[in-house]
Amino acid sequence: MSASTPPKTPGAPVLADSGAPTPAPSPTPAPPAGACAPADRPTLLVKIFGKDRPGMTAGLFDTLAAYSVDVVDIEQVVTRGRIVLCALVTAPQPGLEGDLRATVHSWAESLKLQAEIISGRGDNRPRGLGRSLVTVLGHPLTAESTAAIAARITGTGGNIDRIFRLAKYPVTAVEFAVSGTETEPLRTALATEAHALGVDVAVVSAGLHRRAQRLVVMDVDSTLIQDEVIELFAAHAGCEEEVAAVTTAAMRGELDFEESLHARVALLKGLDVSSVDKVRAEVRLTPGARTLIRTLKRLGYQVGVVSGGFTQVTDDLKERLGLDFAHANTLEVVDGKLTGRVTGEIVDRAGKARLLRRFAAEAGVPLEQTVAIGDGANDLDMLNAAGLGVAFNAKPMVREAAHTAVNVPFLDTVLYLLGITREEVEAADMHLD
Ligand SMILES: [Mg+2]
Repeated sequence: MSASTPPKTPGAPVLADSGAPTPAPSPTPAPPAGACAPADRPTLLVKIFGKDRPGMTAGLFDTLAAYSVDVVDIEQVVTRGRIVLCALVTAPQPGLEGDLRATVHSWAESLKLQAEIISGRGDNRPRGLGRSLVTVLGHPLTAESTAAIAARITGTGGNIDRIFRLAKYPVTAVEFAVSGTETEPLRTALATEAHALGVDVAVVSAGLHRRAQRLVVMDVDSTLIQDEVIELFAAHAGCEEEVAAVTTAAMRGELDFEESLHARVALLKGLDVSSVDKVRAEVRLTPGARTLIRTLKRLGYQVGVVSGGFTQVTDDLKERLGLDFAHANTLEVVDGKLTGRVTGEIVDRAGKARLLRRFAAEAGVPLEQTVAIGDGANDLDMLNAAGLGVAFNAKPMVREAAHTAVNVPFLDTVLYLLGITREEVEAADMHLD
């Protein structure tokens, strides 16, 4: 709808040659301050679309100000230089709505914008009960995947209230704010869809507790680093094949973690302790690991690692990366040689969950506000004990049992699951160093 008739009332704004409105005195007495919109009060939805330019938002509200309307809601989005600006305002005094419409359309036309004004009553419809945030990571994010995810959300009775891009690098990450459905069934429905589509989807319940997440605990082998530390030691000891055979037996369920740990460490007996430095130098961090840790630290999170590997490596990682917590098994060294035994508390599947609880207690963070990341079966107890458990490039069994899964090889994408945007990541980098 458009109107080219210039405003006739003396109180309406006068358009200058530049197209910028010159606010005129208010034509009516101002309504009471702080007016919200009772359900029965007439309201107008003013929607502006077109090329963005400086001063557009001010221009629209200058135009509306002449009618003494109050703002009930505003949404503005700019995508590739195109703006969509929606303002829900109280209706003007009786008899002035036609003038307001004509003036807004005239202002919009002068700037080559499209305007639409829709009459209604009251505020937006209240959002349904049950609020969730759905983060979708695509590499790339296809239209087909987006359609399928949106259809699944609708299929569970959810309504998509808002969609927001968190990042375009190293993956495309978008967040859907959903209401009207419970988090758990939504998570179940979307997990099935995500796997079929080859995208990663995390569903968390919305609310303040998400922002209160303050502790992230990671597995080390094949999570924080790309390697399995025992295999690096085995290469120096010349027993790679024997270690691999034990690993395979453990994966077949013939040995539990502790038995397999002892069996593999025994194969390292006699290895010179100088191999520790060599292994430390060989460890390759997972892409995005430094960005993840640096960003979390700068945003005030505490970050720790738990590993079924060895303190000889995790202590070094703790120091290099500025971690708050690290715990692992310790290779016993006597007279400059590995003895083939580990000392101290064994870190196994149950031990990892126990350490998550211990770190949380030390950090003063409730367990439900913790995040755990891991790839293996021995991470499952920890992933399930945490408020948010993230299976990172994990085996199907782990992926299916965790709250959410990341299947792209970039550890920093976990930030997007926490609602941290790429812009925040980059802003955190600009402030320090
Ligand atoms: Mg692992």
